Amino acid sequence: MLSEPWEKLWKSEEEFFDSGQGEFRHETSFVAVSSIAEQYYCEYKLENAFTFGEIPTETKESGTALHDELMPTERISKEEFVKLVSKKEPTLAVLGVWGSVGGLKVIGTPDHIIWSGGKPMWVVELKTTRGDPNPLWEDQENQVRVYGLLLDRMGFDCSKMRLAVVRLKSGELSEDEKKEWILRVSEALIRNKIQGLETKYQGRMKAHLLEHEVERAEKVVSSKAGYWLNEREPVSSTSIGKCRACEYNSVCSKSLFKPT
Ligand code: SF4
Repeated sequence: MLSEPWEKLWKSEEEFFDSGQGEFRHETSFVAVSSIAEQYYCEYKLENAFTFGEIPTETKESGTALHDELMPTERISKEEFVKLVSKKEPTLAVLGVWGSVGGLKVIGTPDHIIWSGGKPMWVVELKTTRGDPNPLWEDQENQVRVYGLLLDRMGFDCSKMRLAVVRLKSGELSEDEKKEWILRVSEALIRNKIQGLETKYQGRMKAHLLEHEVERAEKVVSSKAGYWLNEREPVSSTSIGKCRACEYNSVCSKSLFKPT
C-alpha cells in the first residue's frame, strides 16, 4: 500500500492523461519536452516532421544506440519505484514527467534522475556529439530546465534539485567505461567531483551544471506555446549552417541550403 501523497500523484497523473483532447496544433493532445527543445533549434523542423514524418539519419541512430548503451533501464512497478527513491542514500530512477505549463499539457521522460528521501537531487540529460562537448546549446539547456519544472509541478520537493547536461564526444569510451558511465557521472555529481571527471576526459566530456529556476523554465515553454495554440505560424531557422545539417533540407520550403 502506497502512502497518500504517492497515491494522489498517480491519480493526478491518470486524470492528466485522460484529459487529452487533441486540442493543440496538428491535433496533438500533449506536447513533448523534446519538441519544445526542438523549437529552439528550428520550429520548422517540427512542422516538417508532421508533414513528412521522421527522417532517420545515421547520426540520430548511432546517438540513440550509444545513449541506450550508456543509460540502460529496467522497468519497475510503481511500488518498487517509490521504495527505491524514498531511500535516504542516493538512488537512480527515472519516471515520466507531466504538467500544465503556458496553456500546454507537457510530457516527457528525462534521461536520468538522482533521488534522495523521495526528493529529486539531480536531473541529468546526456547528449552525445561528434564535435566539441564544451558549448551548451540553448535547446539542450531548455530541455533539462523543463524536465525540472515538471517535477516541481508534480509536487516533488525540488528545493535542492540541480540540473546537468552532460555532453560526451561519441566514440571516446571503451566498452568497460560505457558500462559504468552513468554510475560514474552520478557518483561525481553526488560527491561534487564532476570537475575531476571532466579533467580525466578533457575535450571529450563536459558537464554543464545549472540551477533549477521555475520562472525561467516557465518562460522556456510560454515563449514557444503560440505555435501549439495555433496563434502563429512556425518560425524557420536563419542559420545556413543549421539548414545544411538538417535532414529536411531537401524537402523544406524554408531551407536556406539546397543540397545538389
Ligand atoms: S532546412 Fe532549415 S528551415 Fe528547414 S527545417 Fe531544417 S533547419 Fe529548419
